[in-house]
Amino acid sequence: MNWRVLLMDLHWISMNGYIKWDLEKQKKSAWTIRKKPICLSIVKAKADVKKEDIVIVGAGIAGLGTAVSLQWLGIGSKVLEQAESLRIGGTSLALFKNGWSVLDAIGVGSQLRKQFLEMQGQEVRAVERRILLETLANKATTRCHFFLLKAGKHPHKGKWKNFIGTSRWYSVICSGFFPDGQPFEPKVNYIYGKGIRAGYVPVSSTKVYWFVCFNSSSPGPKITDPSVLRQQTKELVRNWPSDLLNIIDLTPDDTIIRTPLVDRWLWPVVSPSASTGKVVLVGDAWHPMTPNLGPGACCALEDAIVLSKKLADALQYKTMSVENAFTSYEEECWGRVFPLTIRANAVGKLLQWDNPLVCSVRNNIVIPKLAWLGPVLDYTNFKFELLLTN
Ligand SMILES: Cc1cc2nc3c(=O)[nH]c(=O)nc-3n(C[C@H](O)[C@H](O)[C@H](O)COP(=O)(O)OP(=O)(O)OC[C@H]3O[C@@H](n4cnc5c(N)ncnc54)[C@H](O)[C@@H]3O)c2cc1C
Repeated sequence: MNWRVLLMDLHWISMNGYIKWDLEKQKKSAWTIRKKPICLSIVKAKADVKKEDIVIVGAGIAGLGTAVSLQWLGIGSKVLEQAESLRIGGTSLALFKNGWSVLDAIGVGSQLRKQFLEMQGQEVRAVERRILLETLANKATTRCHFFLLKAGKHPHKGKWKNFIGTSRWYSVICSGFFPDGQPFEPKVNYIYGKGIRAGYVPVSSTKVYWFVCFNSSSPGPKITDPSVLRQQTKELVRNWPSDLLNIIDLTPDDTIIRTPLVDRWLWPVVSPSASTGKVVLVGDAWHPMTPNLGPGACCALEDAIVLSKKLADALQYKTMSVENAFTSYEEECWGRVFPLTIRANAVGKLLQWDNPLVCSVRNNIVIPKLAWLGPVLDYTNFKFELLLTN
């Protein structure tokens, strides 16, 4: 099997060979979600896949977004996913206007918009990850297949090793469920403490997404029991506004998650390139960023549309090689994502500060001023060439 182009939106994958799957079991169209992983093995290259075939590894936001964008341009792809189903953890994602403009361009914006509340004053909606992924997966009906795949090694693992850092922040995230309707205004609510912060935002008429992010010097034991997580979270914010405590109480057990927030620095020149040969990284695999400004998913969608356009130029219009398309994609996106990874990390550090004096200046001067000026959201002004064909 000789895949001409391999896109990756995952963290660890092997490119020391080619991945084989059971072609007979493929369905000819539509997405196939399998219950058991398909046998994987490393085999020598064999030219039995059309030259223009594109393989996307990882059915996350970047992977599915790229599949739909390519499909919109008339280019087929295959999506390989290691998990047994689409990832549903992480409950909700704040999507800003850059994310929405991409979702509009690939034909799913209006379908998603009507399911989620718009925040006051700007195009921001908290969108359930599950629904976003399912919507993208359902849109990708032609020439896309869903496979299960076991993780391999990341091609850049050696190079990246020095750039993996772990922040000492932990986040508990989930959605409170109000069967009779949630009572909150459509706005994002933040509460800042010393070394801890929380937030909640209405997602829909019955759901309210919330998080508590706190400093921790060590990961501690893995806790999966929701009642323990709930209790610990309530302890952390025990004197905080009753609205927050109430939402935590109304959260279904199976949605409570605790996750470490990990940062990996991306530096000009020293960081490895996003592409090598005919392999390119998109989304978090290239530029993971802490969710302090909530930019990751929107950037993954930006990557998807920019990369698809470049690939269309290479594969359909033959104006450049695939390798040049990847380089051009990286150049176009780098200027946006690099400052954003730094800014997201810096904002996170400021918000997690535990020094009382710094916290006082932050809460009384910095945050009100930034909220008024709104400069932290200037990155959401994303302009791109519209996809022309469907
Ligand atoms: C707590 C938290 C809150 C966040 N909040 C926001 C927010 O409000 N707004 C926002 O825009 N972003 C937010 N983000 C960031 C956002 O979730 C990510 O930026 C986004 O999911 C990146 O999409 P992706 O497709 O690159 O990666 P992922 O969503 O991680 O998808 C990668 C996929 O690849 C698969 N995969 C991995 N390895 C392999 C392999 N070897 N073989 C096959 N498949 C593989 C995985 O199973 C997964 O399905 C948040 C993140 C966190 C952790």
